Amino acid sequence: MEPAKTADPSTIFKMLPSVDEILRSPQARVISRRAGTDRLTQLARIVQSDLRSKLAGSSTFIGTEQSLITDAGNMIAELWEAESSDGLCRVINATGVIIHTNLGRAPLSAQARRAIVDEAAGYCSLEFDLSTGKRGRRGARAERLATQLTGAESAIIVNNCAAAAFLVLSVLAPDSEVIVSRGELVEIGGDFRIPDILERSGAKMVEVGTTNRTRLEDFENAITERTRMILRVHPSNYRIIGFTEKPTLADLAALALSTGIIMYEDAGSGVLNSDHYEDFADEPVISESIKAGADVVTFSGDKLLGGPQAGIVVGSKNIVEQMRRHPLYRALRADKLVIAALEATMESHARDTAVEDIPVLRMLAVKDAEIAQRTENFVGKLSDRLGRESPIKLELSLGNSVVGGGSAPDARPAAILISLSHKNLNDETLDGALRAAAPPVIARIGDGRVLIDLRTVDPNEEEDLIAAICDTAQVPTHDCG
Ligand SMILES: *Cc1c(COP(=O)(O)O)cnc(C)c1O
Repeated sequence: MEPAKTADPSTIFKMLPSVDEILRSPQARVISRRAGTDRLTQLARIVQSDLRSKLAGSSTFIGTEQSLITDAGNMIAELWEAESSDGLCRVINATGVIIHTNLGRAPLSAQARRAIVDEAAGYCSLEFDLSTGKRGRRGARAERLATQLTGAESAIIVNNCAAAAFLVLSVLAPDSEVIVSRGELVEIGGDFRIPDILERSGAKMVEVGTTNRTRLEDFENAITERTRMILRVHPSNYRIIGFTEKPTLADLAALALSTGIIMYEDAGSGVLNSDHYEDFADEPVISESIKAGADVVTFSGDKLLGGPQAGIVVGSKNIVEQMRRHPLYRALRADKLVIAALEATMESHARDTAVEDIPVLRMLAVKDAEIAQRTENFVGKLSDRLGRESPIKLELSLGNSVVGGGSAPDARPAAILISLSHKNLNDETLDGALRAAAPPVIARIGDGRVLIDLRTVDPNEEEDLIAAICDTAQVPTHDCG
């Protein structure tokens, strides 16, 4: 091997690796299959130019041509890592937040995953009627399932609940007045603000009542010949407690009916079957809203329904058909992968296998004793693997899981949390090391500890979780003393 030497500035640039040399480095070869030749060549040019400026900036250089190629290889690997690391990847959700919006909300059922891959990913009968050979209706089966599960006459599916609300308001109440309680002018989960959606849709918002109390008379008194709709919004993750009052949906719907206006409820999460959620007294059950007289109701596909991101509109046939004919529907309609997953998810709801099939429901239904047992077994296995000398210390503590997604904020299922601490790493560094694992592990930080809640971890992921925690025990620490 050539010894490291100091080169003087005039000869340094002759040592600069060529783009070809950089492309032949072992690091570049590894990347080439994913990045492709063109992108890799661009990256090699960037590396070469970075190296040139680095060398120009130093009066002396210690190294060899070979060491420069190694540096270039490492640099190209870093560049590729930086530009590809924000791509989508599977993660382990150890936060205990069941509907975690940043982690993709509801994990799909096995049936929904299969439907995406086996039924929808290739050519499929998206808008094709196999019996007639003519054009069919997109999402027809999913829509029929939605009506079956809610008791509504008709249904239509769009990209998310925000799109559903926007479509309802744009189609049904342009240039007319929509009455809404001041207690429901909420912002939900980042950027969905009821007053903004109303304004953008062209509707004119008429606020009634106060933040904590709104009565039926407030609505009655606000109705004019320009009123087209009463809007009720489920405040989701926001609660007004104490001295509060609001009319029932049935009372509002009766008022709407008697004055010839539309009763619309934005339910947000939407419970399909109240048997699945004992603690969720505050979440609207969609079929009950329809029974109470709502003309149209919107809810999300990826909250308590446990399916893909989608917005489901159910209501009277006349209203839903107006929406289907509107040009805005064309811009908001759901794609085939979503429809396949939603169809499979709603099929589970329609049979009596929803709690077994759908991860969100399963995670909510799991009994405290079962979680406790599972956590104990896991900690036993993990301690064995870590061994006695491990810098990682495990403790169990009582806490709560969270439903998340703005759903049922008052329901806080009891949880047994595994708290991790590391002899040489602080909680943030340990948390970062878990995020750097493959697949990344997302934990929760509380009271200066890294906390793991197994409720949201699939039993199939336990091996990966153990491996990730064991690897953090090996994270090098720098002794600054
Ligand atoms: C969550 C929520 C929305 C937004 O739903 P997305 O599917 O995220 O667009 C709208 N309204 C209510 C009441 C909600 O809870």
